[in-house]
Amino acid sequence: MVSARGDDKSMPKEAITNASQRNKFRLEKVQELSSTIETVYLAKPRGFCAGVVMAIKAVEDHATAMDQNGEDHLTVYHAIVHNDSVVQRLEAEHNVAFVEDLDQIQATVKDGMSDTVVFSAHGISPTVRTQAKQRGLSVVDATCPLVTKVHTEAKRYAALGYHILLIGDSTKHQEVIGTRGEAPSSTTVVSVVGNIKHDNALADPRTVEVPDPTKVAVLTQTTLNIDDVQQTVELLRTRFPDLTIPKADDLCYATKNRQDAIRAIAPDVDLFLIVTSDYSSNGMRLLEVAESICGNAKRVDRVEDIESAWLTGVRSIGISSAASTPEYLVDEIINLFRNGNPDLKVIENGEWENIKFREPKRVLPSEQRA
Ligand code: SF4
Repeated sequence: MVSARGDDKSMPKEAITNASQRNKFRLEKVQELSSTIETVYLAKPRGFCAGVVMAIKAVEDHATAMDQNGEDHLTVYHAIVHNDSVVQRLEAEHNVAFVEDLDQIQATVKDGMSDTVVFSAHGISPTVRTQAKQRGLSVVDATCPLVTKVHTEAKRYAALGYHILLIGDSTKHQEVIGTRGEAPSSTTVVSVVGNIKHDNALADPRTVEVPDPTKVAVLTQTTLNIDDVQQTVELLRTRFPDLTIPKADDLCYATKNRQDAIRAIAPDVDLFLIVTSDYSSNGMRLLEVAESICGNAKRVDRVEDIESAWLTGVRSIGISSAASTPEYLVDEIINLFRNGNPDLKVIENGEWENIKFREPKRVLPSEQRA
């Protein structure tokens, strides 16, 4: 079976055994070396945001309901959130299929219920919505409301005749594709200042051209680095003095809070571990923030990725995780360090968030807007 990222999961049994053995030895070595770690500082908040909780629950609940009704399995368009372990668990426990193209779904109407597709937390372009309706699919739209807010702004500015400069970290990121899709002929995706390395297709904010410099609006992907966005908006303002900016910031609360929590800890640690998949935009920005302050930040998908060489001379470690990373992946790391040093101090300051988003309902093709 091919996962949402296109990885081939069919590995020979012998190779799996060898890989497990290697992981075991590596973990034992890391545990041994972690005896010198005295303190772990846990960033708070970290991990799941309200949008991710809502999206995962929507998949679980609808998959369970469909199973109980004897309907076919549920399909999700794109990874529901950008974390491999979440995607793999939903595949294994709920028989959910992930697709990158709606053509992969066979719409079959049974007892008035057609095949159902879930739109991921990152949102979709209107083209995908139209395709779903044309294919007769029922839809569960798990787009995060904070992404929907940016879509609404894009539609509004385009209708008012503005050219939109959408600050994003990649033209291939699902959220950027979705937002740009609201007004493709009126939108240019620009990089943050000094950082166009992620994607050569991003326009450079220092040189980007627009049809009318007096009618320019700026929008932002929700998960970028706060400082980078501020610098970029300032630069764009000097180039386009009439630049229009939405009243409420597009960077989401979860992005800001997780970056702020890292800033509070990073000056005090020798090493910072960020638990995230490498295709999570918010997770990779956390890595950049931690690296910019402590100068020694590493990304891990899970505990097995920690390298023993990283721990040489390390007495204090900061840990945070992306808005799509399940907490058990952080727990596994702390447990390993605790096994290495039973006197390990775990310090966790800060506040958890108390935000919830309503779970989306299933909408039949006849109920979908054109
Ligand atoms: Fe929504 Fe922000 Fe979470 Fe993305 S990171 S799902 S925009 S709350």
